[in-house]
Amino acid sequence: MMASNPFDINALVRKNILQMKPYSSARDEFKGEAEIFLDANENPYPTPYHRYPDPLQGKVKEKLAQLKGVKPSQIFLGNGSDEAIDLLIRAFCEPHRDSILITEPTYGMYAVCAEVNAVRIQSVLLSEETFDIDLNSFPEKFHETTKLIFLCSPNNPTANLLSPEKIIDILSRFQGLVVVDEAYIDFAKSKSFISELDGYPNLVVLQTFSKAWGLAGLRLGMCFASEAIISVLNKIKYPYNVNIQTQELALEALEHVDRKNNWVTEIIEERKNLTEALAALPVVKKIFPSDGNFLLVRVQNAPETYQYLMNNNIIVRDRSKVALCNNCIRITIGTPEENRKLIQALKQL
Ligand SMILES: *Cc1c(COP(=O)(O)O)cnc(C)c1O
Repeated sequence: MMASNPFDINALVRKNILQMKPYSSARDEFKGEAEIFLDANENPYPTPYHRYPDPLQGKVKEKLAQLKGVKPSQIFLGNGSDEAIDLLIRAFCEPHRDSILITEPTYGMYAVCAEVNAVRIQSVLLSEETFDIDLNSFPEKFHETTKLIFLCSPNNPTANLLSPEKIIDILSRFQGLVVVDEAYIDFAKSKSFISELDGYPNLVVLQTFSKAWGLAGLRLGMCFASEAIISVLNKIKYPYNVNIQTQELALEALEHVDRKNNWVTEIIEERKNLTEALAALPVVKKIFPSDGNFLLVRVQNAPETYQYLMNNNIIVRDRSKVALCNNCIRITIGTPEENRKLIQALKQL
């Protein structure tokens, strides 16, 4: 496999980034224990936050590495996975020349980050109704200016997993980076692509503390890849991109994986209940199979249903303007009580 895909990270990174000297912070230059720190122009009077945070989040990564079966040096942590998406595009795509490839419909941030950075977007459609990768719609030979392919699995907003065999096919044929966004992997029946990292030097896996872990407000995203790729992201990130409190609370969460797992079990159970209850409603035309913590539901009239629910103090996402999602709304799985109220409202539509 790898022989057919010679991978050279230095050939892929933008030249200016390859050549630049990164910012070196006080905490990069001295990492050990000491009595007196007069090196970072901090306020010496102690508050819980008077010191800068660990720039490379060593403690969180150590714990996370154990949990995920990787080395700490294979982890990048960012201000949400959105930071990793942005840094990947900035590190590997030359503005006004290179492009990313996305599969529509998908998460909107890939295209937004590309546009902000003047990076072109090639988009191919997922297959109709099943929303899987359609290899026929992919280029047979990728253009040399295509640097990143974003594959979201389970996909937002369609909720399905992409077929692992097709992801592997792309990983082995593409010379650039394949970014598999697994924001919803905790809710899915398939295992993470993290286990494929050793076999594919061009694989990048994104996960987040925003969904299953219940920490969206903290802003902490995870990126798993080869040491070489992670070093590039570390080189260009803001020096102190994850604050002290986020690092502490993430560490605390990682010490209670069972708490996260219990939420996941309950949400999956509620996903089943909500699917059954929705299926019984005349307004519901189709419920797409879900491996996430949300359902994509085709209704008779999505904008009308959205408006009606909003008038009843229930906010869902109208996705009807999105490719292949006509008359679809996206519903996040709530608590049993919230889901009951949703069904009650829809019954009266
Ligand atoms: C919610 C979501 C994320 C999470 O982004 P954060 O910046 O980590 O909150 C990433 N990717 C997809 C597809 C998502 O739906």
